[in-house]
Formats: sequence, structure tokens, C-alpha cells
Amino acid sequence: MKLLVIGGVAASMSAASKLRRMDEQAEITVYEKGKFLSYGACGLPYYISGENDDYRKMIARTQKQFAERNIKTHLQHEVLKVDTNKREVTVKDLASDKTFTDTYDKLMIGTGTFPIMPPFPGADLENIHVLKTLEDGMILKEISRKPEVQDVVIVGGGYIGIEVVEAMKALGKNVRVVEMGERILAPFDKEITDIAEKEIRDNGVELNLGEKVESFNGNGKVDSVKTDKGTYKADLVLVAVGVKPATKFLKGSGIEMAENGAIIIDREMRTNIEGVYAAGDCAQVYHKVLEENDYIPLGIMRINAAAWLVAILPETMKNMWELWEVQRLKSLIWSLEERGFPRRMPKSLV
Ligand SMILES: Cc1cc2nc3c(=O)[nH]c(=O)nc-3n(C[C@H](O)[C@H](O)[C@H](O)COP(=O)(O)OP(=O)(O)OC[C@H]3O[C@@H](n4cnc5c(N)ncnc54)[C@H](O)[C@@H]3O)c2cc1C
Repeated sequence: MKLLVIGGVAASMSAASKLRRMDEQAEITVYEKGKFLSYGACGLPYYISGENDDYRKMIARTQKQFAERNIKTHLQHEVLKVDTNKREVTVKDLASDKTFTDTYDKLMIGTGTFPIMPPFPGADLENIHVLKTLEDGMILKEISRKPEVQDVVIVGGGYIGIEVVEAMKALGKNVRVVEMGERILAPFDKEITDIAEKEIRDNGVELNLGEKVESFNGNGKVDSVKTDKGTYKADLVLVAVGVKPATKFLKGSGIEMAENGAIIIDREMRTNIEGVYAAGDCAQVYHKVLEENDYIPLGIMRINAAAWLVAILPETMKNMWELWEVQRLKSLIWSLEERGFPRRMPKSLV
């Protein structure tokens, strides 16, 4: 069996490794468009702040370690197209600019997300960045070490923006958050975000809520951010306003996607096309409490990547997997109940 994997970080490499553990014979090839494999992006804010100065600590397994497990990985190789009729992908080697095709028996898509950069005037000025990849983390670490970089504006009060607030404060910067909504960390309830906002302000961070960015200004390099309420000095701007599934290259492949571009999968990570699977931030995920698909782009969801294997396991093993999953969920619900959380058991488990 020949498995092709697109993307080389959390979901995809979990799936490749799991398959190797269960099938020593399978041919496994990974195409990753970036320069790094299998790293924990969750550690990036602590790398930027200097709590960890060695980026290698964020890498779970190197290319050499995957090679030892007979998993072929190709870095700086972007998959441009998937032809599900021919079971073929078109790949561009970004270093040599050469394009070639490769075939598969089974395809796992784990291409994650790309950060949204709204078309603000001035968005192409120097020192305006996003934080998504290890490469982004390295750039932000370098810029934030420059003595002339004192005023940092963070656009977006989601979890990435707020984690970078902490990093920039640790580096002694003057930090301001501009957030369009009335609260930061929107998925949390107000009683929680009130506490977070107080803590942030108590630490000397300016929190501009209910305020919209209109443009970035500067001469070559950014020097200020203009909003609908004011203009603020900025030597460095982080734009952290959300992510979108990185699935544009699948257009025309016949693989079904939701309105936001997330690949629609069943509970065993199958797409609507036979032999094609998807996992991680590029796909929807089955929400066990709501009992329907949802979109939750968080690292914790990558564990679902391993679950796709049930799709190719024998029936008896599938049943064991289900049993284990249900028991795990029940224990979680019971332990939450013990801590006083109201019971919200999925219908099928009651
Ligand atoms: C700063 C930061 C902090 C975070 N903190 C947390 C946290 O505390 N807790 C948590 O649960 N989650 C956190 N996350 C989210 C977590 O990192 C992601 O949910 C996780 O990395 C998703 O894994 P993935 O494999 O689905 O996608 P990704 O990690 O995005 O990997 C996808 C890979 O696919 C590659 N790719 C994309 N398109 C192609 C293509 N066409 N061809 C070849 N390769 C392609 C990309 O280059 C990328 O390397 C954080 C993320 C960031 C950026």
C-alpha cells in the first residue's frame, strides 16, 4: 500500500507514524512545503519570549528520524493539485522550481491553516507579521530583539495574540492590543474574559476593545497603526485575526468542503472520495458532545489523525477502538461532574 501524506506537522505526521507502527510494509511519502517537520507551534510564543532559546526543542522528530522509520519526507515540496480520478498529485519542488507527479493508493491531507491577513492599506510594510510557522517564530524572535523595537501593536485578541502579549511583555516592550470585539478570547464566557482582561491591564498592557484597524502607516517600515478611534505608535505589528483551512489547492478535486473551506470528513477521517482522508486544522472534526461535525483548529484535535486508521482496520479492532473512545469520554464527563460541572452527556451515551 502506498500512502501519500500532504503536510508534515502535527496531524499528518501523527498519521504517518501511526501507520508505520501498524504496517511495516507500507510505502509512506510526505510532502511538506515548509522547511521544518513535526514541530509544536504551541511552543512558539515561549520561543519568542526567550523562555526557550532552542527551536530544536519544539521539534518532535527530525527528517533523519523519520527516514530511520522508513518514512520518506520531502521538505519545501508543495502539492499544487490532487487528481482523485487518477489517484495522482502534482508537486512543486520549491527549491529547484521543478514540478512532477506522484501517485497514491491512499491519500492523507493534513495541510492545516493559513493566517488571515486582511487587505489593510500598508499591510506590506516591513515589521508587520503573522505567527503561524516556525519560520514566522524565528523572524519575530529576531525583530523583537532589536533595541529600536519598543512599541508593539497586536491586532486581534484571540489566543495567539494574547500569548504574544505575554511574550512581548516578558521582553520589556510597550504592548497594545487592538481588538474589534468587545472582549478578548471570544470563545470564553464574559466571567472568564473579565478576569483575563483585568490581569492583562494590571500588567501594563493597553487593551483597545471595540476598535477597528483602518491602516498601517510608515515609510518602508511600519511606524503607526490607525484605527477608527486613534493612531498608535508601532515598531512591530502582529496580525493575529484568525486562520482559514489551507485547502484552496483541492479546488476541482471533487473533495467536499464546508463553506469555510474545511474538508468534510466522517468519524473515521474519510472524505467523500474513496481512499482520501483528512485530519487536523484543514478538516472538520466530529464534536462528541454536540454529536455533529464542527471546526476547531487546535493542536489537541490532531490526535484524531490516528483515528482515521480505524477506516482501514479489521472490524474487531474497530469495535475495540470505539469501546476505548466511549470509555475515555465517559471518564472525562464523570470527572467533570465530580468537580461540579453540569451533566451534558451525549444522547448516544445516556
Ligand atoms: C502560535 C501558536 C500557538 C498555538 N498554541 C496552541 C495551543 O496552546 N493549544 C493547541 O491545542 N493548539 C495550539 N495551536 C494550534 C496548533 O498548532 C495547530 O492546531 C496544529 O499545528 C494543527 O496541526 P495540523 O497538522 O493540522 O496543521 P499545521 O500544523 O498547520 O501543519 C500543516 C502543514 O501543512 C503544510 N502544507 C499546507 N499546504 C500544503 C501543500 N499544498 N503542500 C504541502 N504542504 C502543505 C504547511 O506548510 C504546514 O507545515 C497554536 C498555533 C500557533 C500558530
